[in-house]
Amino acid sequence: MKQTVFSKILAGEIPNYTVYEDEHTLAFLDISPCAKGHTLVIPKTYAETISDADEDVLSALFRAVQKTIQRIDAVLNPDGYNIGLNHGDAGGQAVPHVHVHIIPRWNGDGGTSMHSIVSNPGDMSVEEVAALFS
Ligand code: 5GP
Repeated sequence: MKQTVFSKILAGEIPNYTVYEDEHTLAFLDISPCAKGHTLVIPKTYAETISDADEDVLSALFRAVQKTIQRIDAVLNPDGYNIGLNHGDAGGQAVPHVHVHIIPRWNGDGGTSMHSIVSNPGDMSVEEVAALFS
């Protein structure tokens, strides 16, 4: 288990603004928000990425994502969300404790979609990539 700022938040050593909490998960406001209400949802059981997490941890995590959205809906009433995980160094993950970003979106807020994260489709066609999976 790697000690991270999120371990310290879970241990109560760093304060947080809690949005939702249950036995298995904690959701709290991101300290450096991309949007009003930008929230992180983390499992209380340590895993670095979703690849390392047990099935029950993941199911609790994604159930908590839904609960957290319901809470944000009730308080901030956004028009939509971007929901995602930065996974690994190449994926921009800075804190090695799995966490789901919930970024509230409003019509006309100037943001875009997941497609704006990277534009690097590579030199293989979709069909060629699909063949690698067959
Ligand atoms: P990552 O890049 O790993 O997906 O995102 C880590 C997130 O954690 C960042 O959005 C960053 O702003 C947030 N963060 C880092 N340290 C703290 C902290 O001490 N408290 C809170 N609430 N968020 C933090």
